Amino acid sequence: MINIKENISLKPYHTFGMDINTRYLVEYDSVEELRSLLISPIIKDNIYIHIGGGSNLLFTKEYCGVVLHSRIVDMVVEEHEDSVLIKVGAGVVWDDFVAYTVSNNWYGAENLSYIPGEVGASAVQNVGAYGVEAKDIINRVYAIDVETGAERIFKQDECLYGYRSSIFKTQLKGQYIITYVEYRLSKTPCHKLEYGNLKTMLGDDITLQNIRNSIIEIRKQKLPDPNELGSAGSFFINPVVDVTCFHTLKQEYPDIVSYPLNEDKVKLSAAWLIDKAGWHGKRVGGAAVYHKQCLVLINENNAIPADVIELASQIQKSVYEKYGVEITPEVNYI
Ligand SMILES: Cc1cc2nc3c(=O)[nH]c(=O)nc-3n(C[C@H](O)[C@H](O)[C@H](O)COP(=O)(O)OP(=O)(O)OC[C@H]3O[C@@H](n4cnc5c(N)ncnc54)[C@H](O)[C@@H]3O)c2cc1C
Repeated sequence: MINIKENISLKPYHTFGMDINTRYLVEYDSVEELRSLLISPIIKDNIYIHIGGGSNLLFTKEYCGVVLHSRIVDMVVEEHEDSVLIKVGAGVVWDDFVAYTVSNNWYGAENLSYIPGEVGASAVQNVGAYGVEAKDIINRVYAIDVETGAERIFKQDECLYGYRSSIFKTQLKGQYIITYVEYRLSKTPCHKLEYGNLKTMLGDDITLQNIRNSIIEIRKQKLPDPNELGSAGSFFINPVVDVTCFHTLKQEYPDIVSYPLNEDKVKLSAAWLIDKAGWHGKRVGGAAVYHKQCLVLINENNAIPADVIELASQIQKSVYEKYGVEITPEVNYI
């Protein structure tokens, strides 16, 4: 059933935990309901934004339009000899889906355990952690064209996935609403354990459930729990620079943290840049740089959007002045 709420707080609908109102919050349970909404006055006469779990958003002020949210939560499983295809509703909580795959002994999603948000956004954001990205397991993305209501099924390679990026964030931004994502998981073991201290933590005890448990444990130690401390996870994207720029920086800062991408490009750790620019634990109003991870900006003490915006922009400015490197927000400003 379509559910429309008027003039309500978005506090429970985004992880920064700020008390910001929206004119309407509209939730729907099926593709048919979404189609009927797209031709209804509430959408036609207002601006709107589609959200998932609100874990990568910064509402910069009261929202004077419609916040749309999917409650499509069904799943269809198709088993093959070596793999399994699961078509999952956009409104399913991402980590519930990961837990489901792990409990069935299907490989591929375990490294992405405990990332906040919902399935629909995983295909927009190309979520990633511990050496795995959503694109590695996405097979197809089902979406509705917001103008025509027609369904389009995107094959994985049509989604133009990159680091935290997809066609839904770039060329086709705002043109499609994702209704289902189909993932392909493996029935045979294919672990990726090279990242961080995962291998050490696991020892010889390598089962899917143990990988998931270890990742959850590490994440709980490093990242703020959105139920206790508002944030949107990593606030900035790790910047990519060309090799010449990297070598110049490396001479001046021998301990700079970097990841070579190819012969020409190097990814820098935004957390390192921010930390070494002196931002550890710094505050603007109620917003702060998280003391355990400089890449995360938190709502420490009743922050208002302007606090977070100001803190983020001061950080960007100071990183640019110190290293000549631009860092851009991963978080979507609304
Ligand atoms: C504590 C914490 C830790 C995090 N750790 C990680 C991490 O390890 N790796 C990582 O990649 N991210 C991480 N994130 C960021 C965030 O969890 C991901 O970006 C996640 O995919 C966002 O999902 P969401 O459902 O909350 O989307 P939202 O934040 O609600 O939306 C994100 C974008 O997707 C669009 N969108 C949402 N649903 C749909 C839909 N159905 N159709 C079309 N567009 C849609 C929105 O318009 C918006 O542009 C973290 C966040 C937090 C708070």
